Amino acid sequence: MSGLGPRDIALEKLAATVTSEPLDVLVVGGGITGAGIALDAASRGATVGLVEGRDFASGTSSKSSKLVHGGLRYLEQREFGLMREACTERDLLRRLAPHLVEPIPFVLPVSQRSTRAKLGVGLWAYDALASFRNMKIHKHIDPSEAEELVPPLPKGKVRGGYLFYDCKNDDVRLVMENLVQARRYGATVVNHAAVRHLDGKEGDCRALIEDTPTATVFEVRARRVVVAAGVWADRVEGLARADARPRLRPSKGIHLVFDRTTLPLQDAAAFIPDADRERMLFVIPWLDAVIVGTTDETYEGDLDTPSVTDPDRDYVLSSLNSAFALELTATDIVGAYAGLRPLIASKQGATADLSRRHSVYDIAPGIIGITGGKLTTYRRMAADAVDRLSQDGGISSRSRTRWIRLGSHDPETLTRAVERRAARLGIGRDSVESLVRCYGDRSLAVIDVAEKSDNPLPLVEGHPPLAAEAAYCAQEEMVVDLDDLLARRTRMALVDRAAGIGTGRRASAYLADALAWSADEHDRQILAYRAEVEQERGRPLGETPPLERPTRTQTG
Ligand code: FAD
Repeated sequence: MSGLGPRDIALEKLAATVTSEPLDVLVVGGGITGAGIALDAASRGATVGLVEGRDFASGTSSKSSKLVHGGLRYLEQREFGLMREACTERDLLRRLAPHLVEPIPFVLPVSQRSTRAKLGVGLWAYDALASFRNMKIHKHIDPSEAEELVPPLPKGKVRGGYLFYDCKNDDVRLVMENLVQARRYGATVVNHAAVRHLDGKEGDCRALIEDTPTATVFEVRARRVVVAAGVWADRVEGLARADARPRLRPSKGIHLVFDRTTLPLQDAAAFIPDADRERMLFVIPWLDAVIVGTTDETYEGDLDTPSVTDPDRDYVLSSLNSAFALELTATDIVGAYAGLRPLIASKQGATADLSRRHSVYDIAPGIIGITGGKLTTYRRMAADAVDRLSQDGGISSRSRTRWIRLGSHDPETLTRAVERRAARLGIGRDSVESLVRCYGDRSLAVIDVAEKSDNPLPLVEGHPPLAAEAAYCAQEEMVVDLDDLLARRTRMALVDRAAGIGTGRRASAYLADALAWSADEHDRQILAYRAEVEQERGRPLGETPPLERPTRTQTG
């Protein structure tokens, strides 16, 4: 069994719960929390269904800073318990998903002697919270080392710095690996299937689900329901009870994305002060680009459409230009994205000061909710939620996920195997590494597709993902529309200036082939996707050549 399998079969299985056995657990929400819960519950032997209203990971779980980290910033809030838990989870995830969760050195430049001692103490505490099992203990570095690791630092202005380690990952891929593994344990998962109503009753809950591509509504029965809807948790709770009171205070965070030639970082990331010296920003080499963020502002707008505003953009640009010897402008930005943190409304004041802890709570008989937390701690969150369900009996009380590998256990041997087969097709090293990182052991199945179609070409000119991924993701990862492919299964919407539709060979044409779209549908998909990217980036994509119709010759 590979991937997630066909979507229509999953829909049928869920609908069949009305006439046959109900599910043990229905999970609402296919972000990292829901995906983690599906895997945790299924691996304890429960029958599990998961419905995601839009695409898997399309909420906050595709908008993170891409770190699996202890959260150095939370030292100031004295969130020691949370940090210790996050450090433990980081180390575990490195072992469970080594192809995906990758250690990265961080440079923390110091320009004032007075701050050096304070930062040093903070980093000792950070190592101590990881029980000194951090990838490497932090160390002080001299100015030349700092400048070598982070070339944009202003020469002669930095008094050295600190080098410490955390991990980066691809947030969407972590969600997908959990879903794929959950399916191996028997879970039925489906995207573009939104819960419209919830009816709670001890041992017999019902959910009305809309299959959004066809606007068909059907019922699903489950003994228990877990709402893992992130920042939408209050809204979904409102579907189960009319008297629900808001629990969340959403906070918006944005990132800008740059080319590595404009913002030259290779192996190391940097942790820099913002222009006002009030917050710290991450500058992280990620895929073939560099991402910079993030902000943390109370958000009261539409939960479905957060976007990068001009003030957001100016704040990040001016912070970069003040920390680095650069004069970046808006035209240097290749991508931008905005996400919402599902923070528990524990107190007034700045959202940056709110705890990143999670909360599991009762919604109605048979229905619980979980929200808050961090990507890094999702596995613990999932275990907490399923532990709560197990109190009613019928589900094992012991989580097994700390022993369940995600994706690949030996990326080096796998890379060699993929490389051998890729070489015969003329596929380069960058694409091989990208395949292994994205699909783990399943990357050989993508090579099968490339071999069958005899197509070694990239999906988007100048980026590692392959055209073959369009067909693979349509068959095995429930890609329904162009946004699924370009914004999440591959990250073209983030790292490509034209978001994957503006240049040369059209990624969309490959998908049109795989999903048998008519020429009109193909045009509609491009326009819809383009509108989505422009809304999130907060500005037009720029000059885009006229739409191309899908033809066989384009798909090579
Ligand atoms: P989501 O990913 O939002 O998933 C909830 C899902 O529920 C959505 O996909 C939504 O479509 C679905 N849904 C909603 N309503 C319905 C319905 N009616 N029916 C079906 N489905 C529904 N954490 C880290 O550890 N490291 C980081 O580097 C990091 N950086 C961050 C940077 C930013 C800017 C932000 C905003 C957060 C960051 N976080 C980070 C936090 C982390 O990203 C989130 O805690 C995590 O992704 C939340 O996952 P979730 O599954 O709870 O929510």
